Amino acid sequence: AVPARPREPESPLEVLRRVFGYEAFRGEQAEIIDTVVGGGDALVLMPTGGGKSLCYQIPSLVRDGVGVVISPLIALMQDQVDALRNVGVRAGFLNSTQDHNQRREVERDFLSGELDMLYLAPERLRLDSTVDLLGRGKVALFAIDEAHCVSQWGHDFRPDYLALSELHQRWPDVPRIALTATATEATHTEIAERLDLGQARHFVASFDRPNIQYRIVPKAGPQKQVLDLIRTEHAGDAGIVYCLSRATVEKTAEFLSQNGVPAVPYHAGLDAGTRARNQSRFLREDGLVVVATIAFGMGIDKPDVRFVAHLDLPKSVEGYYQETGRAGRDGLPSTAWLAYGLADVVQQRKMIDQSEGDLAHRRRLSAHLDAMLALCETVECRRGQLLNYFGQTAEGKCDNCDTCLTPPESWDGTVAAQKLLSAVWRLDKERNQHFGAGQIIDILLGKQTDKITQHRHDQLATFGKGTELRDQEWRGVVRQLLAQGLLAVQGDYGTLHLTGASTEVLGRSRQVMLRREPERPAGSGGGTRS
Ligand code: ADP
Ligand code: ZN
Repeated sequence: AVPARPREPESPLEVLRRVFGYEAFRGEQAEIIDTVVGGGDALVLMPTGGGKSLCYQIPSLVRDGVGVVISPLIALMQDQVDALRNVGVRAGFLNSTQDHNQRREVERDFLSGELDMLYLAPERLRLDSTVDLLGRGKVALFAIDEAHCVSQWGHDFRPDYLALSELHQRWPDVPRIALTATATEATHTEIAERLDLGQARHFVASFDRPNIQYRIVPKAGPQKQVLDLIRTEHAGDAGIVYCLSRATVEKTAEFLSQNGVPAVPYHAGLDAGTRARNQSRFLREDGLVVVATIAFGMGIDKPDVRFVAHLDLPKSVEGYYQETGRAGRDGLPSTAWLAYGLADVVQQRKMIDQSEGDLAHRRRLSAHLDAMLALCETVECRRGQLLNYFGQTAEGKCDNCDTCLTPPESWDGTVAAQKLLSAVWRLDKERNQHFGAGQIIDILLGKQTDKITQHRHDQLATFGKGTELRDQEWRGVVRQLLAQGLLAVQGDYGTLHLTGASTEVLGRSRQVMLRREPERPAGSGGGTRS
């Protein structure tokens, strides 16, 4: 049983020990908590697993009144509240999953001072009834979790978050703490502005996760690649495998299971019961692999996830960082592995082209993708590049990412780039045609396919002019030119187009350095390594 709450006011450290059973604060927790307990506002940027929750839970217990937590993670509120109740914290939540009676009960508890913490979905705060309710009770603090949701620049924008700036006008004396694990310089500034946190102290933790080894490889049969990774390095380990589509999630989970790796699927298309069951199995069992769309993992607290694998290219560096951050919360060595290929780039460009929203929105999505591609194609330390992206500096090489461990060779790809770009250029100028990478590469390789004959592409001057590279190598060249902005891909069919910068290459005024692709191991199609 939890020791009873003493009558004397407790210090944050005493609460940490009595309620949560931890010995000491981590990092900047103590300072953050002191700030809020003292009535000040705080903006907290801390990586996933850094320990953000205690930063508002403890002040909620130390200050008079109820700590109100605004969180978009409705699906997790029940779990969060249950976990708090388990340690004796009187917590409740209000969201759309409850019926009238359940809500009434929570409201009663709030008003009669029988709650320490109240979790609210952001849309609740737009209701006058909720604002009235809070006005009739005593609020100890407002915690705004996942604060990046207020950022229109970010990847997770929620319009309801914009209304949260009004908290300050209605309750000028109640401290506010905004928290996020996603923070580029731009998002950071935007959060402070939009939430009216001009007076807040900023706490920026290091985003480095030294125990995570980052690796990004060319995609070549991703299911077998990931099976190989599990068999050789992570047999019996818990892990998360992310795929973009529900169909690949299903297929990959089945493939892993058939090959002796216990794996379950998780995506929004499964019924709630199956999802809940798979999630709780993952939390409880050892060595289970969850194959999921990105819907899985937000707020999941499993310390011993040993690997996170991406079989498809994430849409942004923020997303990638957040998803890989679910590995190794216990601080032990873990792997973040990503396989990506040309088709990913084509597909994502297409999704951006087709996305709803204005031009500015599509430009933002495009900028996110470009940053992700730059991370994939870098010959520098991945960790350094990640930290730079978040506005932090890294010191030298990390020795725990693929580019540090096996430095990629780069080669002068200027001539190859010129050949490829001029193939695209000639098709455009001479035929007014645009084709995808496959056809352009077939032209360079001089392949006599039906499609080549049909379009008389064997009569182009560039036909057969690129036989020094293999098909796979040309695909690497295309990918890297896309990542460097020297080529663009557009439309439903992923056709290739020149960019402004392409002309510098064609005009021979620009050198193009490319990353040499690692040789694929012989027989890698079989995945039979034991
Ligand atoms: P975040 O919300 O930043 O992702 P959490 O608040 O979920 O992180 O904390 C991650 C894990 O670290 C949790 O299991 C939490 O109980 C644990 N933790 C947080 N602070 C401490 C601490 N001071 N000492 C020990 N464990 C801690
Ligand atoms: Zn490195």
